[in-house]
Amino acid sequence: MKFNVLTLFPEMFEPIKESILKRAQENNVIEINLINIRDFSKNKHKKVDDYPYGGGAGMLIRPDVVYDAYQSIENKDTAKVIYLSPQGKVLTQNKVKELSKQENLILLCGHYEGIDERVLEEIVDEEISIGDYVLTGGEIPAMVLIDSVSRYVEGVINAESTNEESFSNGLLEYPQYTRPEVFLNKKVPDVLLSGHHSNIENWRKEQSIKNTKNKRPELLEKQL
Ligand code: SAM
Repeated sequence: MKFNVLTLFPEMFEPIKESILKRAQENNVIEINLINIRDFSKNKHKKVDDYPYGGGAGMLIRPDVVYDAYQSIENKDTAKVIYLSPQGKVLTQNKVKELSKQENLILLCGHYEGIDERVLEEIVDEEISIGDYVLTGGEIPAMVLIDSVSRYVEGVINAESTNEESFSNGLLEYPQYTRPEVFLNKKVPDVLLSGHHSNIENWRKEQSIKNTKNKRPELLEKQL
């Protein structure tokens, strides 16, 4: 799967060059192509932003530089274009799964006060937010999207991990334990040491419901 990222700050993308995503890129399971919007400025100072018409705080990214950067992307016509924006629908695990089926995504990151509306109308298929708060730029949201979507791309992680975790069945995951068996006088629940698979499965189901009830009761309500 290919992620093309249109950004003014490609150097911010270091965190997704580590660990599981590093391996996925080395194995060519995912590809992350960072495109610097500033490279498409025709201004001699490489300026990409300007004051908003009608006044108001901050600067806006010009539509022409974004459009030219977009035009430079190979196979752009087959890609879905997502603008990371606080005005978009909030990203959910279902949306993450749906996006993982795409071969080619273009992620547009705004910065400053955002991007001129005309280029958004022209190239964007969908706006996605990572939550109801405002960040300084779309770079961290783009990394959140790449990380969460990549986990569902075949060959990135073990499929079993995504089947059993939080949100996969509308509930939060059950508590998990590893060695040592006793830590600060707290013992691992006996059932997990029993080797009895159906008892373990039942205990996990119960704990999963309990966990959801305590931490995110509204998820349970949605299931009724
Ligand atoms: N003026 C815009 C508004 O009120 O809707 C906010 C602009 S924000 C300061 C700058 C950029 O950060 C946006 O263009 C967007 O790309 C990104 N951004 C900020 N918050 C976000 C969020 N919750 N989810 C996704 N992207 C976000």
